[in-house]
Amino acid sequence: MLYDHDTIVAPATAPGGALAVIRLSGDETLTVCDRIFRGRRPLADAEGYTVHYGRILDGERIVDDVLVSVFRAPHSYTGEDSAEISCHGSQYIVSEILRLAIAAGARTADPGEFTIRAYLAGKMDLSQAEAVADMIASSSRAAHTLASTQMRGGYSATLETLRGELLELASLLELELDFSEEDVEFADRNRLRTTMERIGLEIRAMRDSFSLGNAIKQGVAVAIAGAPNVGKSTLLNRLLNEERALVSDIAGTTRDVIEETANIDGVQFRFLDTAGIRTTDDALERMGIERTRSSISRARIVLYLLDATAMNDFSRLPEPDFTLRDDQRMIYVVNKIDRIGDGAISPATPNTPNVPIFISARNGEGIERLRRALRDSIDTDALYHGDAVVSNTRHFEALDRAAEALRNALDGLRNGLPTDLLSEEIRQVTTHLGTITGRGQITSDEILKNIFSKFCIGK
Ligand code: GDP
Repeated sequence: MLYDHDTIVAPATAPGGALAVIRLSGDETLTVCDRIFRGRRPLADAEGYTVHYGRILDGERIVDDVLVSVFRAPHSYTGEDSAEISCHGSQYIVSEILRLAIAAGARTADPGEFTIRAYLAGKMDLSQAEAVADMIASSSRAAHTLASTQMRGGYSATLETLRGELLELASLLELELDFSEEDVEFADRNRLRTTMERIGLEIRAMRDSFSLGNAIKQGVAVAIAGAPNVGKSTLLNRLLNEERALVSDIAGTTRDVIEETANIDGVQFRFLDTAGIRTTDDALERMGIERTRSSISRARIVLYLLDATAMNDFSRLPEPDFTLRDDQRMIYVVNKIDRIGDGAISPATPNTPNVPIFISARNGEGIERLRRALRDSIDTDALYHGDAVVSNTRHFEALDRAAEALRNALDGLRNGLPTDLLSEEIRQVTTHLGTITGRGQITSDEILKNIFSKFCIGK
């Protein structure tokens, strides 16, 4: 069983900080705390939203001076009585407090168990619970907006409205069945069709927003392509260096983590397979080409780098030796302009397709324009206006199935499908939509486990 009434305990903070927080939730929370905590008065008497200073004791031995925040059901994250113990951030202290809490009657929480309880208590729906994990993982302003919109109910409301409308259509159709002798039509077929078509449009728009949402959440994938020696690694270093300069004063930032990503105006960009770019060894050359191909196929944006010193006409750009899908974009970049005369570059005609961006990866000229172009290729307006932008694969798949089911229903309507089957088709759509929020239908333990197992302990 997914849910029991045990009192659970887990560290809520990562090791390494000055302070740590240990979280407890469940009916026995305050009893457990009182067994290990001594303050001015027992926590069992404390009201919700109060903070208490005292000591954690192991028998008579003082483990730490702490603050305990008390939350009373139902006004807590989980909806249960809960507490957060703030102690000094030593791994030893944290493990001692956990050990004592367990000896006093709590058990270790499973990954995501606090959030499962919040969901089961009706504090949030599934899509909101999933956004909690995204929120914690967010590493750019855009990813943060995405998660926080979803956490605050983002498209849950839209989905519930659509689901409600469809359920109403299905019930109207089912009503007809009750009066089938009398040959009445409660659901005007024309209106039925227009409503269904409109809902289909909305569902597809949400589904299609995944392309943007996913790029923002994972980081926008960029490949740098071009012949050997055009300056690919120099350009990469240039793009990453500016980023490093920006983040270098944040203590504890490891270079590894930011090595291949750059945050441009609130959006994270991920440079693909940069190891491949650095391949210089001849024996590895072939492998390098293979890898470049593979990173091109995974990229959303391809920077096609050309060497200005090897070109004689900038209005005739060579065709790349790779082809792109519709959802991919290529930007021509002409490098090494420091080596050609100023007059060589004519001002770009605005309407020419594929106007290249002229840069010198070596001295930094034009790099700001290139960063702008990368940033402008991601339209975040919808996101910042609070529109529904889907970033969760599970939601995308559910929307895709809903769109498909709706198409079947519309086909059925067109082909005069019997009323009972038609209403069944419409109910299919609502089932798929319902899996996203987990509302209005029973979500199996297995699905829940799958979602919450990706959480870390203490969430
Ligand atoms: P890759 O093989 O495409 O990764 O090219 P590299 O980045 O290794 O650069 C090849 C050569 O071109 C190196 O000697 C670089 O110093 C030089 N290079 C790269 N960018 C520029 C530039 O903007 N101006 C000049 N003059 N040389 C450059």
